Amino acid sequence: MACINPENAAPRAASSGAPDFNPYSAMQPRPSPAVPKDLRNGARVKAHGLAPAGAYIPDINVLTPHMRSPEYVQMSRAAAITLGVMPGMMYRCGCTRCLNLLLTYPEGCRANCAYCGLARHREAERDYADRNFIRVDWPALPLAQVIDIVAGAGDKTPFHRMCISMITHPRSDADTVSVLEAWTRRISPDAVPVSILSNPTTMTRDDVQRLKTLGADIFTVALDACTPELFERTRGRGVQSPHSWKQYWRILHDAREIFGPGKFGMHLIVGMGETEYEALSVVQELVDLGGHSHMFCFFPEKGSLMDHLPATPRDQWRRVQLARYLIDYRGVRLAHMRFDGDGRVVDFGIPRAELDSVIDAGIAFRTSGCPGKFRDDVSACDRPYGDSPPSNIASYPFQPAGRDIVRIRRDLGMRRRAR
Ligand code: SF4
Repeated sequence: MACINPENAAPRAASSGAPDFNPYSAMQPRPSPAVPKDLRNGARVKAHGLAPAGAYIPDINVLTPHMRSPEYVQMSRAAAITLGVMPGMMYRCGCTRCLNLLLTYPEGCRANCAYCGLARHREAERDYADRNFIRVDWPALPLAQVIDIVAGAGDKTPFHRMCISMITHPRSDADTVSVLEAWTRRISPDAVPVSILSNPTTMTRDDVQRLKTLGADIFTVALDACTPELFERTRGRGVQSPHSWKQYWRILHDAREIFGPGKFGMHLIVGMGETEYEALSVVQELVDLGGHSHMFCFFPEKGSLMDHLPATPRDQWRRVQLARYLIDYRGVRLAHMRFDGDGRVVDFGIPRAELDSVIDAGIAFRTSGCPGKFRDDVSACDRPYGDSPPSNIASYPFQPAGRDIVRIRRDLGMRRRAR
């Protein structure tokens, strides 16, 4: 197995004297390595043309089979364990409620985002299906087998939601449609609703409409970088990647009009060099538009162009997590909050007793994403430890309580007041 969890990439300790946030000046991606021509576009996999046989568990010591969507899809290790196609246990979690299906091609994603393990610059290093992504390997399975298992489980399925994750590839739009059609032929979207994690770079408004017509429930855009400058540095020309800030927002606005209020969202990564004020400004803008933010803590993915940089300090992350929850679910507005000269939250805009009860409830610190079947502010997207190691959890994939809340309060520098 090519299990790559760089547990040593910890945020700096609170006592280190370093700033309690990741400033823009410190978060410069390294340059992309050159990829020899004969290793580009999945050439190695295509040259061998090895036929896949059932499930493929990533292994850099064997030949990677030639797998393509829509016949094949990859899924997170947590989803594969929950589906029962690979053994394993997850720290303090029984399963994941979200089945994320990632499109797969030997050519891989043609973009080169600086923080991403799937980025194009890794072509020489490892085949697409063997690349670590959000801290884990992604096993591949025939789509038909995945659908058989979920359909066969009926209302006993552990999954509250399925999510099709697009990548930047010429086939991505058409194959997303094929995966969605194959899924909804066997599984009612009422039983397991479908989200689309889109790739705006290759999409038009008609593509968004088509997905809605075919039964997709929620449409999301992974903006990831919270400012135009940061976007350009990590996803645009700064790393020879094709994405544009304007196009991402254009498709988000299309989704807003087509999917409607509460049915669109945006992924944001905190700690790549934006200020807390900048990240929360996007959160507020999304709420004003009628959508939600899905928030992740920056973690230096091994093999990415940002793997030499520090993870987001927990102080910064907890402040933004808490403020985002208040804006998204408690009606607090950015304008009610106060920020210091470095853009850090210094006042959350509600009385301390109310803030204490939100912190103690713990939901603000859980994984965020599209809702599941428990309640609106608890995400189905609870894939564990995507943005931190389990030894220092950033987003809790379970309900934090007891010692978890003590730790969260320590991160926030807000000990419980004596009653
Ligand atoms: S488009 Fe998505 S999958 Fe592709 S490199 Fe960027 S973040 Fe990774």
